[in-house]
Amino acid sequence: MESIAPKFERLIKPAYPTGKDLKDRRWVFIPYDRFTDRVGPLTQQAAEKTGIVIVESTAKAHRRPYHKKKLVLLISNMRHFALEQAARGCKVIYFFSPNSHATALLELQQTLPLPDITVMQPAERELRLDIAAATKLGLKLNVVEDTTWFSTTEDFTKVYGAYKAGRSYVMDRFYRVVRQKSGVLMKNGKPVGGQFSYDADNRNPYKGQVPIPKPLSFPPDELTLEVIDFVAREYGHHFGEIEGFDSPVTQADADRAWTFTLEHLLPHFGPYEDAMRDDELQLFHSRTSGLVNLSRLLPAQMIAEAAQAIENGRVPLASGEGFIRQLMGWREFMRHLHEQTDGYRLLAGTIPQETKKLKKKADPYAGAVPTALNASLPLPAAYWGVKSGLHCLDTVVEQVVQEGWSHHITRLMVLSNLATLCGFSPRELTDWFWFAYVDAYDWVVETNVLGMATYADGGLTATKPYVSGAAYINRMSNYCGHCQYDPKRSTGEGSCPFTALYWTFLERNEAVLGGNFRMQMPYNTLRKKSGPELVQLRARADEAVAHLQSFPRPKY
Ligand SMILES: Cc1cc2nc3c(=O)[nH]c(=O)nc-3n(C[C@H](O)[C@H](O)[C@H](O)COP(=O)(O)OP(=O)(O)OC[C@H]3O[C@@H](n4cnc5c(N)ncnc54)[C@H](O)[C@@H]3O)c2cc1C
Ligand code: SF4
Repeated sequence: MESIAPKFERLIKPAYPTGKDLKDRRWVFIPYDRFTDRVGPLTQQAAEKTGIVIVESTAKAHRRPYHKKKLVLLISNMRHFALEQAARGCKVIYFFSPNSHATALLELQQTLPLPDITVMQPAERELRLDIAAATKLGLKLNVVEDTTWFSTTEDFTKVYGAYKAGRSYVMDRFYRVVRQKSGVLMKNGKPVGGQFSYDADNRNPYKGQVPIPKPLSFPPDELTLEVIDFVAREYGHHFGEIEGFDSPVTQADADRAWTFTLEHLLPHFGPYEDAMRDDELQLFHSRTSGLVNLSRLLPAQMIAEAAQAIENGRVPLASGEGFIRQLMGWREFMRHLHEQTDGYRLLAGTIPQETKKLKKKADPYAGAVPTALNASLPLPAAYWGVKSGLHCLDTVVEQVVQEGWSHHITRLMVLSNLATLCGFSPRELTDWFWFAYVDAYDWVVETNVLGMATYADGGLTATKPYVSGAAYINRMSNYCGHCQYDPKRSTGEGSCPFTALYWTFLERNEAVLGGNFRMQMPYNTLRKKSGPELVQLRARADEAVAHLQSFPRPKY
């Protein structure tokens, strides 16, 4: 059979183990998102005593129409990591397989004498499921703690206890406990500067106040070009553009990207964290999520170095704390919440479900379908790049098509805000984020979309839905100035659809949200609106949804 990666295979071949290596070395399975030798089993013995097993599985890559750049990022990092480990003396079994990772491992274990394989507890539920299924068929793995995380399951359960229906999981409580336990940004038991969070200081629009540094570019080497060719051939029908791939694929480049972030982006991260621009993709965001989720960058190191930069006065406290809170707080919190709720599956029975999407036959990969706000309209074609005329939406979708990435506020206050206001299916939105973004994995995408962004979990993660009309988008971005719609008008021809959608969203969901104390102000305003105004708002909102639904959606 023709090799799918002849250049890579030539380079990795000398690292293939002999029979003696199989017997004498400690063998470690490296999942597709754990490319590190800085923590975990690879640090526990000399490279000359270590062997690694990596599976490049086409079954996994075909499971969803993942963005082509995500596949390139993942596969190229995987192949480079294999070569980096070979270069330091490890033996490497790099196995191309059409099957799932665990099935491939079982096959290897049955054909080679590989009795004992160690793996860090997989981050993705999907991989844990695969392993559980293959274990029933005879796979033997020694699962050890995943030490790439900053916190432990006990840290989480100490704060909230085991999962219980109806409990609210306010992230701040967890963040404070982990700050105290780790001592990061703490002095004499108190938070440095007197506050745990400086979120309230971080809400400026960006109007050129400080120049935005040009992001680093990492042009593809020969091996990455081979991956790009392969992905274009094998996954050409998948979402997104492949041209222009320039992300780090080696440890050295990942480290360079982080140093650049620390020196040039972090000092201004906080103040412009919520700002959005149609001419700037990244602003002062680190764009590290893809690398952190592959373990090329480790939260413990990033947090320590960011804290050090604050102490040295190179990064202002409010800015650096904002960044640390994302990594130490939100990222860890989401991971625990996903694990504790079995990816929100445990909510079934207490939170309304999208009944149409509940699978008749038990499919282990079928995602949870909570929809506390009874939203189930199909996600429209605009999310696949069909132009809607809403400049904010079209801008962000175009960024995602091109890069497989956009920053947090665009995900929350444009893509998810619109979906929530219109009543698009939270599950469809989650699946869209999952394949469209380079940093998406089940534990982080399901919690962020079903929890934080759409309130589908009924307030488990966020005390109120993150929704807004045009005023917020107009204040925090330059989108509206370039849009055919007028953000200051809510009804009539040329009015921005967001505001009408916002009021009708509140009206539609009054039974669920009307009693929420954080929603009292908007509900008081809604209740003062006249009958004729409400009729006009409903008409404008209906027209907006019908317009978005009028384009056919691409099929994969
Ligand atoms: C609807 C929606 C979907 C999202 N889907 C994903 C996803 O699939 N994968 C993903 O990694 N993040 C996701 N996030 C969280 C967040 O938007 C991204 O982590 C962040 O935008 C990545 O860009 P960055 O590296 O520049 O982050 P920065 O803004 O520079 O933040 C620093 C780091 O903090 C972490 N982080 C920040 N916020 C979160 C969060 N809410 N949850 C988890 N980690 C966080 C990231 O690892 C990031 O690298 C989502 C958020 C929303 C609202
Ligand atoms: S006017 Fe409305 S649709 Fe246009 S960019 Fe602003 S918020 Fe988006």
